Amino acid sequence: MASTKRGLRLEGKKAIITGAAGGIGLETTILFAREGAAVLMADISEPALATALAKVHTILPDPPRLETIKCDVSKESDVEAMVKHVDSWGGVDIMFNNAGIMHGDDADAIDTPEKIWDLTHNINVKGVWFGSKHAVLSMRRHEKKVGSIINTASVVALVGSATPQLAYTASKGAVLAITRELAIVHAKEGFRFNALCPAPLNTALLQDWLGDDAAKRHRREIHFPSGRFGEAIEQAQAVLFLASDESSFVNGTDFVVDGGLTRAYVTAQ
Ligand code: NAD
Repeated sequence: MASTKRGLRLEGKKAIITGAAGGIGLETTILFAREGAAVLMADISEPALATALAKVHTILPDPPRLETIKCDVSKESDVEAMVKHVDSWGGVDIMFNNAGIMHGDDADAIDTPEKIWDLTHNINVKGVWFGSKHAVLSMRRHEKKVGSIINTASVVALVGSATPQLAYTASKGAVLAITRELAIVHAKEGFRFNALCPAPLNTALLQDWLGDDAAKRHRREIHFPSGRFGEAIEQAQAVLFLASDESSFVNGTDFVVDGGLTRAYVTAQ
């Protein structure tokens, strides 16, 4: 939807984006800022955040309020400090719990090391819990009448993966379950929760993991109805919709952005 200068889609909103230094988080930062939101970019990597911030300033030389904060989403004290930072701006309106990892040692039930299971769940699941919890507390402190929380899951939470990554798959299933429950619990307060379910993407998270292994790539590409990986910007456009008041009656959904991947029984020709 096109926006006019007087009708920006997120005008006046205060947003936090985790995992904002790369991929989906960075593209979403650019769209949110372009649509008038004040954005706090959070990430575990300070150098990556600095590079990302410079990139946003190149694209949008004069954005609304735009700041960065180092935050490990698996640590509640970090998440609390991040949210308190936005309290000083007037409280959180939009929380995008997006940070996540897929570890190279994640495997099947036999070979996944317990420490990889725990690491994956601490970031991908507890990170979403802490982000949701502190966003709600901020919205309540500031007596918000509406709020939008978007949690990044994955299509593997819907269809599973025949190339095993058990800890990751389980963690994303938990994100869907958490999101659904919170959506109902907080609906009367006006706080909406939706889960984003991306297909495999052209971002560092997956592309670094695939590397130059042609067979590993082929295992995935053969299933894409559109014949390609998704792009981070295509996810960001969906997040923008979920964040804005345009989606005011969209709550508790598994919002799938996958080029049709999960709708097929056989592989496309
Ligand atoms: P990305 O690797 O490009 O970006 C993820 C960001 O999260 C990085 O900047 C990283 O530094 C940050 N991060 C990692 N651990 C963190 C922590 N503990 N605290 C704070 N930040 C942390 O990945 P992306 O593809 O943009 O992934 C974003 C989300 O999308 C993830 O939750 C991922 O699981 C999910 N997802 C990705 C794909 C894909 O194919 N790339 C598919 C489905 C779902």
